[in-house]
Amino acid sequence: MARTKFVCGNWKMHKTVAEAVQLVKELAAGLGDAAGKVQVAVAPPFTALHAAAQAAAGSAVEVAGQDVHWEVQGAFTGEVSAAMLAEAGCRHGIVGHSERRQLFGETDEAVRRKAGALLAAGLAPIVCVGETLAEREAGRTLEVVDRQVRQGLAGLDAGALGRVTVAYEPVWAIGTGKTATAAQAQEVHAAIRKILRDLGGSVSDAIRIQYGGSVKPENAQELMSQPDVDGALVGGASLKAKDFLAIVKGA
Ligand code: PGA
Repeated sequence: MARTKFVCGNWKMHKTVAEAVQLVKELAAGLGDAAGKVQVAVAPPFTALHAAAQAAAGSAVEVAGQDVHWEVQGAFTGEVSAAMLAEAGCRHGIVGHSERRQLFGETDEAVRRKAGALLAAGLAPIVCVGETLAEREAGRTLEVVDRQVRQGLAGLDAGALGRVTVAYEPVWAIGTGKTATAAQAQEVHAAIRKILRDLGGSVSDAIRIQYGGSVKPENAQELMSQPDVDGALVGGASLKAKDFLAIVKGA
């Protein structure tokens, strides 16, 4: 089935408010024809979300949070709720990014709760999964991804699942300049599609599976031409309008 490609820039801990507004304006102005064909989002740091969403208003650029807490409100110093993201102008939220898993101890259970909180607030989760280099070398890639997908999406009904995007990001490819080959990506994406079918039946055909990990203008088109690669989650190359626009236009 034809799925609209979805490309999201994950800015990580980059861009001040002023820089974020500037980049969003450049993206909005540069999308051209891609605007109606590819779904495009950017995930600025929390401090810049509202300003970025305002700068994006009326354009095809959508805004995503990089993380979220699952509670609605309360004494959780440093955390931000899904409703706060929605009010700031977000339509999406990233959960389970490997940096959150590795550096901040995010578990599959936390991913599940965060995805649920986003859905409850009307936002669309981007659920990240992916194996480490040691796991790949030990032949455990599909086992790890299977666990992360099933536990991260546990309990969602077909309607909720249909609003989820899965991002396959092999940890060894993130920020390293090493990209999975198109064939390596497609193999895991096809496995994820099968798991989604198991979980959601026919709705799984509509779920986008993004690839992430050193996506650049030079490799984006080949990766996204694979049958189950429905877009990209882009880190480093999303920080410059020229590179990110080239990736979007290659989708
Ligand atoms: P990268 O990051 O494109 O810089 O490898 C991707 C990501 O972490 O989402």
